[in-house]
Amino acid sequence: MTQRDRLRQLIIDFCNERQVRTFSLRELSRKYKNYEDIGIGGKTPESTVRRLLQQLRDSGSVIFHDRHGKRGHYTFCDKVLLDYEMVSVDGQDCKLSPMKSHAKEYLFEIFGRRRRLVEKAQIVLGPECMYKRCRNTFNDPENEPYTEVHHIRPLCRGGADAIWNLSVLCGHHHKQAHFAHQQERDDLEKYLLGAVRERL
Ligand SMILES: [Zn+2]
Ligand SMILES: [Zn+2]
Repeated sequence: MTQRDRLRQLIIDFCNERQVRTFSLRELSRKYKNYEDIGIGGKTPESTVRRLLQQLRDSGSVIFHDRHGKRGHYTFCDKVLLDYEMVSVDGQDCKLSPMKSHAKEYLFEIFGRRRRLVEKAQIVLGPECMYKRCRNTFNDPENEPYTEVHHIRPLCRGGADAIWNLSVLCGHHHKQAHFAHQQERDDLEKYLLGAVRERL
């Protein structure tokens, strides 16, 4: 493995850890100090890394930003999916194209949730959609109401994975909570926080 390949792997690890593909050399250096782990030594390891980043840019693995705002940042753009960009469905990793974190959170809530917390939410908060007087809830093949458990304040925005931050929604209102216009999402969030408080 060449130094360049090792740096590429290091960048993948770094992006996975932070769940974002854009980084600066300073951030990378703060984390990996002297880059000894990938065998880069010498007095000026950072200039070696800068040179390797140049090579990675030439081969299309990273983009260098020189526009205002992101100046000095790199974006990893290899067409491999990072671990955090995959969603597990019934234990199988599904590869999804890179998508926004709130969209991923939506899929995670539908397919990857811990069963116990979902059941607890449905017992405590009720078996039907909590949004206003919604009548959208339908029955599943077992004749149980089909609902989805949603984090009112999204996990990806620092919301807690706790009962007071959970709500029970029908498929339509759950989708609305994630994908509607910001104002609509804010209204829903406010309403649900109040509705949960009443039921706890
Ligand atoms: Zn949700
Ligand atoms: Zn509903």
